[in-house]
Amino acid sequence: HWSRICARLKAEVGEVEYNTWLRQMGVGPVEEDEITLYLPTRFLRDWVRGQYGDRLGALWHAEIPAIRRVELQVARGPSSSAEGEAATAESHPAAPVAAPVVEAAVVEEPRTAEVRSDLAAPLDPRFTFETFVVGKPNEFAYACARRVAERPSSPGFNPLFLYGGVGLGKTHLMHAIGSELVREGRVSVAYMSAEKFMYRFIAAIRSQSTMEFKEQLRSVDVLMIDDLQFLIGKDNTQEEFFHTFNALVDAGRQIVVSADKSPSDLSGLEDRLRTRLGCGMVADIHATTFELRISILEAKATASGVDVPAKVLEFLAHKITSNVRELEGALNRLIAHANLFGRPVTLEATQDVLHDILKANNRRVTIEEIQRKVAEHWNIRLTDMSSARRSTVVARPRQVAMYLSKQLTSRSLPEIGRKFGNRDHTTVIYAVRRVMELMEQDPAFAEDVELLRRMLES
Ligand code: ADP
Ligand code: MG
Repeated sequence: HWSRICARLKAEVGEVEYNTWLRQMGVGPVEEDEITLYLPTRFLRDWVRGQYGDRLGALWHAEIPAIRRVELQVARGPSSSAEGEAATAESHPAAPVAAPVVEAAVVEEPRTAEVRSDLAAPLDPRFTFETFVVGKPNEFAYACARRVAERPSSPGFNPLFLYGGVGLGKTHLMHAIGSELVREGRVSVAYMSAEKFMYRFIAAIRSQSTMEFKEQLRSVDVLMIDDLQFLIGKDNTQEEFFHTFNALVDAGRQIVVSADKSPSDLSGLEDRLRTRLGCGMVADIHATTFELRISILEAKATASGVDVPAKVLEFLAHKITSNVRELEGALNRLIAHANLFGRPVTLEATQDVLHDILKANNRRVTIEEIQRKVAEHWNIRLTDMSSARRSTVVARPRQVAMYLSKQLTSRSLPEIGRKFGNRDHTTVIYAVRRVMELMEQDPAFAEDVELLRRMLES
């Protein structure tokens, strides 16, 4: 049971977090509905109880339904790796416990070297202003980031608060600011995720080096904290961040913060912190547009040196709309395949290689969507899908839309006919046949229809 639970936990929280907090946990006896787990220090015990107590309870209950409580004790458990040393078991109320009280009661722990490692995380050399593709959705955030990199601590730009959904370039822009400043050799920069900020802070408490930690933080010229939403509910860390923030801004240093929401929408952050975060420049990165996705794909394809046809890029930009990270992931996979197998990138290959990603991005297509896409493609009015006009310019796309409706939806012929200006089902049959004939005769037309089908396909 225990090894299965450990494996599950490791998979859920990741190797690093697991090794930091959970690896030293030992398992003790089961008594009736309760299992005892051991942790070597009070600090770890409190931390694990606050962060993982509920989860441990649930995992044990799933393994052994009789278990309803997990008791966490400070001791060297029988299965922990410690040798000798008598167990000094202290009894404490069992998990699950409400709020994480982690940051309290940790001062008796022995000093560790952890906090003395580098203050900031390294900057990713790929995330620069040069590699950031600018378009309508991100141009304001980009301009603000550039401005801060050029002239940190300018009035009106401090703090710079970048926000937007997952995978839209917040981290990229922060690294770009950092790299730019470092390249100029002008100032000292510290970038870290809010999560790392918290771990550092806690480690500092544990090793009684909070003064050092604060001094280090307050000595930088530019402090960048990524994904601030992580601090929601972590009140002590928020408090510490607030003080650091004030000290830095008061000393004329620059702060850059990112989050998934605007300061006013980050409920769960202390009011005074939210107020201060909104005091400088707040820049929103919007969801990508088709045009921006195309530009990003073009830039990345060019950089890779692999020839990716425009049709494939268009296809990807249509299909993968969630965020840039996924788009980039899809393109990278295509490029890797092309390099590995030396085959050209084609639409067919793309569909094959990206089967799983495309499926995840799919929804059921409707006749209305088909009509819209087809009308857009041939530049006719959407109303012409149901109009009585019979000139080829509109009749042909209408037939294609009927054909695709038959292929991609489960609607019956009469139903499809009704959606196209109450036409008869025989008209739909004729349209399907006609489109198939034309596709055989005219490869360019066939390709157009294929492309539309792939874009719409579910
Ligand atoms: P976030 O931090 O907002 O979740 P990231 O900055 O990590 O997003 O971006 C995800 C990935 O997408 C990164 O590899 C990043 O380089 C890339 N990316 C995002 N936006 C752009 C853009 N405008 N131009 C080029 N690459 C981008
Ligand atoms: Mg990020």
